[in-house]
Amino acid sequence: MIFLIQTRYSCRSFYALGTFNSIKIPDRADEALLDSAVRRVREIERKMSVFFKDSEIARLNRLAGKSSVPLSDDTFLVLKHAAEISKASEGAFDITLGPLINLWRRAGKENRIPCEEEREACKKLSGYEDVLFKGSNLVALRRIGQAVDLGGIAKGYAADEVRKLLVSQGVESALINLGGNVVTIGLRPDKSLWKVGLQNPNSLRGALFCYLEAEDKTVVTSGGYERFFMKDGVRYHHILDPKTGTSVQSGLLSVTAVCKSSMDADALTTAFFVLGPKRGIPLFERFGASAVYVTEGEEIYASVDLAGTLKGS
Ligand code: AMP
Ligand code: MG
Repeated sequence: MIFLIQTRYSCRSFYALGTFNSIKIPDRADEALLDSAVRRVREIERKMSVFFKDSEIARLNRLAGKSSVPLSDDTFLVLKHAAEISKASEGAFDITLGPLINLWRRAGKENRIPCEEEREACKKLSGYEDVLFKGSNLVALRRIGQAVDLGGIAKGYAADEVRKLLVSQGVESALINLGGNVVTIGLRPDKSLWKVGLQNPNSLRGALFCYLEAEDKTVVTSGGYERFFMKDGVRYHHILDPKTGTSVQSGLLSVTAVCKSSMDADALTTAFFVLGPKRGIPLFERFGASAVYVTEGEEIYASVDLAGTLKGS
């Protein structure tokens, strides 16, 4: 008897959006399609990254408090969606944390904790309601010094866009991973479900505590272990609490969302991390997302509907 033990994959790994990414399509040697998927991610990065001086977001930030900026459909749509999730999360997810994020980024490089005055000054510049939508893709920031940072949502949007592109070209099976924003298309070539590993937040990168089986779903994780610096035994990580102006201490190590939209999942996991489970779970339910979260006591909780799909590693 002959049976299949390995399938040919077309695979592309690349660095973009400040992270490592991969796109894997089984049974198809379509280099041109992979090229256009990578191009699409880079196009989104060039429009939305604050690290590109000529990006639309960099321009919006430079003109804060001065004038409106015309944006592409991509950037406009992400800003609109971010505003919706900011509102739904009562400001736990807030893309106007730019000044605070920059402050902590600089402080991390200098290995110091920003003083209260610095934090307060940056906190005063935040406020998602200060992103003003003026119709026909025109957007402004209300006050001088304000700055948008799409680090908590852009990867999700890019992952959704790669899925859209692949599906429009007839791809029925694929695995997209943009820095932990995983999107699965269809089933694996042997018709089994895709297996998406969940990172053990207390272990080396790549060490899993379980995996999730998924078909046409996105699986996105936010964790305090992803980017951080240590000072006097305290871990200062990259997810900030807009209320305190410092990295979130909600008793969580990581939060995973499972749903249809990777952009939703990206923003929702960041919001859940800030809100904690009591307020995070209803927020997820509102957007049709299921959750897996790990507490500092290393307890793992999951939405009931995931019970059949979560497997030990
Ligand atoms: P994620 O890894 O998706 O949870 O996103 C973290 C990134 O989002 C950070 O590196 C910041 O760029 C940005 N960020 C941090 N805290 C927040 C917040 N409370 N709301 C929105 N974006 C945030
Ligand atoms: Mg996020």
